[in-house]
Amino acid sequence: MREPAKPTGDQRTDKDDANFKLLRYFSSASLLAFVVVALSLGYVFRVLSVDNLVNGYQSEHINHARLISNELWDDYFDLLIQSARDLPAEQLANAAEIPSLHRHVSKMLEGTQILKIKVYDLKGRTVYSTELNEIGENNINDAGFIVGLRGQNRSELFHYSQLRTFDSKLPDRDLVESYIPRFDPKTGQVSGVFEIYRDATSVLVEVRQRQTLLVGAVIALLVVLYLFVVVVVRQAQKRLITQSHERQKALQALALSEERWKFALEGSGDGVWDRNLQTGEVVFSRRYKEIYGFSDGELEDHSEAWEERVHPDDLPSVIADRDAYLRGDKSSYVNVRRMQCKNGSWKWILSRGMVVARDAQGNPLRMIGTHNDVTEQHEHEQALHLAATVMQTMDEAVMVTDADNTIISVNPAFTRISGYAPAEAIGKKPSMLASGIHPPAFYQTIWQQIADAGNWKGEICNRHKNGYIFIEWLSINTVCNQRGDISNFVAVFSDITERKTSEAHIQQLAHFDILTGLPNRALFNDRLRQGVARSQRDKGCLALMFIDLDKFKPVNDKLGHAMGDVLLKAAAKRLLQCVRRDSDTVARIGGDEFVVLLEIDSPEDAMVVAVKIREAIEQPFQLDAHCASISASIGVAIFPEHGSDEKTLLDNADAAMYQSKEGGRNQVQLFQQPLI
Ligand code: GH3
Ligand code: MG
Repeated sequence: MREPAKPTGDQRTDKDDANFKLLRYFSSASLLAFVVVALSLGYVFRVLSVDNLVNGYQSEHINHARLISNELWDDYFDLLIQSARDLPAEQLANAAEIPSLHRHVSKMLEGTQILKIKVYDLKGRTVYSTELNEIGENNINDAGFIVGLRGQNRSELFHYSQLRTFDSKLPDRDLVESYIPRFDPKTGQVSGVFEIYRDATSVLVEVRQRQTLLVGAVIALLVVLYLFVVVVVRQAQKRLITQSHERQKALQALALSEERWKFALEGSGDGVWDRNLQTGEVVFSRRYKEIYGFSDGELEDHSEAWEERVHPDDLPSVIADRDAYLRGDKSSYVNVRRMQCKNGSWKWILSRGMVVARDAQGNPLRMIGTHNDVTEQHEHEQALHLAATVMQTMDEAVMVTDADNTIISVNPAFTRISGYAPAEAIGKKPSMLASGIHPPAFYQTIWQQIADAGNWKGEICNRHKNGYIFIEWLSINTVCNQRGDISNFVAVFSDITERKTSEAHIQQLAHFDILTGLPNRALFNDRLRQGVARSQRDKGCLALMFIDLDKFKPVNDKLGHAMGDVLLKAAAKRLLQCVRRDSDTVARIGGDEFVVLLEIDSPEDAMVVAVKIREAIEQPFQLDAHCASISASIGVAIFPEHGSDEKTLLDNADAAMYQSKEGGRNQVQLFQQPLI
């Protein structure tokens, strides 16, 4: 997994840059705004203060003009207008009243700031001006005159680069110029317009000073405000940057965490789903789609009808589990169900989930969960369940041990056969069943074969909890783990005691004489065959004796058949006492016929045994209350002298026995080859 780049203190992300630009723009914009506001306020202050000052000055000036006009109008100007009414404009300056009027006015305005006065008749002609050469000028179109003619006052500020007054010239003057109407007291009509000029330079100087002061104060205040805002913005910027870095770190930590979770979940093989419970929208991880055989582009995130993919038999349990969880009846949502893959096949899925977001009322809004493909595990569990059921119900005992051969599990048949309950067996060694019959070598052989071949099968005698010994058919197999090491031994056994007993009985019937317990003809023939083969191989000698009791029938006749049987059994015992049991065989092959097979070193040895037998039989038999005497006729044939095969040997021994009978009975006769 690639680690997401961690931010360092010097590194700035695009988002940080965006923040910085935003703040920079804010600062620039606010500076511009302050400048505009400062200029606007300055302008407004200026206009207001200047206008205020000028307006006051103008109204004062109008009043002043009214006073002067009142002073001069009736006595001078009105008369002048009256007398000039019919004069042409060019003769107005020659009016007789002008010189005295001019002196009067000059005297009157001396020492004042009135620089000029003018008087107009209703035709707009200048009937008087302190600037005498302006008398007679037509002023009919002058805006001030027109206003005055309408009966209104008008006052304006003007700048004159050069002003002529009282025959002098004044440079660069600011003047306030006012027009006031004069009314005829009789008619109330305007009878003339009076214009007056007053020097406003000093006023405007004051205005400018106040204006500068005001603008300076406003600018100073705004600069202070701007600096304050800059400081505040700078602090805010620092905090924003810090918060932004912290948010970046948190987001990166979250992204890292989410990536780790995603990695863990994806790595674990689980598919992830994220469902909006209100809209039904759902988002699936790549692995989720992969589980069902869908590619990344398939299985639309928002339109998936998941119920359709749940096996119909499992859908009720899915809904029940989910509703129980959402109701709070269950602490977690877990459900195992079959889901259909893209190709139509079914998979067993373990679904887990949890609510990650709720609204203010606690209603679930969002749920996140995983899907885990447990098909293999489920099938394995089914197989295990089946195996466990089989193990519980089978007739054979099953005993499972660990690698140290300690019992870890047994089935009911084990208890039935061995007598030990599971609690008594588990934790013990299988040797708890040992009968003590088998030598250590027997077990060594078993374990050696298990080590070599991985299994062993055979009969073994074990001891029941009650103490009796039983025979079992045992099969031991090894179980290896994935690394190939032995993890368990499984022993399966059945009690074959009964079968063995009946088998032994059949064996007995097939190979042994019921009356005497000696081998019968069939077994004897087998032993004879083996003896001949062994002797041929080892170049050894065998002696075969044919023994027939003499006059046995009369015993039967005299004492009864049962007594005859008793005698036959007693005779068999005596025969056994005359031979080596481990190497020799005594068999009963007919009514009163016995055969003895001896491994011998020389024919003389056979004769010694034969005589010993003859003498043993000759001894009287005590048969309950009766005593019976009998004898035996014995024929002896030697291998290989008297026959190299069984049949010849038997025939020759039989022939020797008949020779013995014919010789008078109670004799031992060694076979003799006929002369011809
Ligand atoms: P011989 O001296 O010639 O051998 O005559 P024998 O009386 O011994 O008679 P033989 O050997 O010819 O016959 C054996 C008799 O043994 C025949 C039969 O009545 C008797 N017999 C055969 N089987 C049994 C048996 O199982 N039990 C008893 N009690 N008698 C048997
Ligand atoms: Mg006989």
